[in-house]
Amino acid sequence: MQDFSQFIREVPDFPKPGILFKDITPLLGNPAAFHKVIDAFARHYKYEAIDVVTGTEARGFILGAALAYRLGVGFVPIRKSGKLPYETHEVTYDLEYGYDVVAIHQDACPKDSRVLVCDDVLATGGTLAASIALVEKLKGRVVGIAVLIELLALNGREKIPNHDIFSLIKY
Ligand code: AMP
Repeated sequence: MQDFSQFIREVPDFPKPGILFKDITPLLGNPAAFHKVIDAFARHYKYEAIDVVTGTEARGFILGAALAYRLGVGFVPIRKSGKLPYETHEVTYDLEYGYDVVAIHQDACPKDSRVLVCDDVLATGGTLAASIALVEKLKGRVVGIAVLIELLALNGREKIPNHDIFSLIKY
C-alpha cells in the first residue's frame, strides 16, 4: 500500500491553538494520489455489496462522492443542521466544548440498504458515530466505515464499536 501521508499537510494551531490540522488539499490536488486513494477504498470493498455511500460535511462529500461514483452506487450527503431542504432526521453529538447536530434526508436510503459511511478524518469518533446513528434511524445497515486518516491517539474506534473501520493513513 502506498504511503499517502506525504500528500497530507500538517497545519499547527488551526482552527484553534493546540490542533494539528491534517490538510488533505495537497492530496486532492494531485491527480495520481487522489485516484489511488479512491481506488484503494474501492479495492477494500470489492467483495462487499454496497447500495449507497454517505459523506459527512464537508470533506466527507469529496471523498464519499468520488467513491460512490467509483463503486457505481448513489451518494448521500450528511449535513450540518438546517442545510438539507427536505424532511430530515437529526442527531446531536458532543464536541470538546458544546455540541453539534448532523442531519440526513428521511428518504436518503431504503430500509435494509447496505451503507458505506465515509469521512476524511476519524478523530474522537463523534462525527462518525452520529453519521452511523443517522443511517440506523433510516434502518439502513452500515456495512463499513471508510476514512482517509485515523488519529490513533484519540481512540475514536472506541466510540464506534462493532463496525469495520478502514483507514488509509494512521497517525
Ligand atoms: P471527530 O468527531 O472528533 O472524530 O472529528 C472528526 C471531524 O473533525 C472530521 O470530519 C474532520 O473533518 C475533523 N477533524 C478533526 N480533527 C481533525 C484534524 N486534526 N485535522 C483535520 N480535520 C480534523
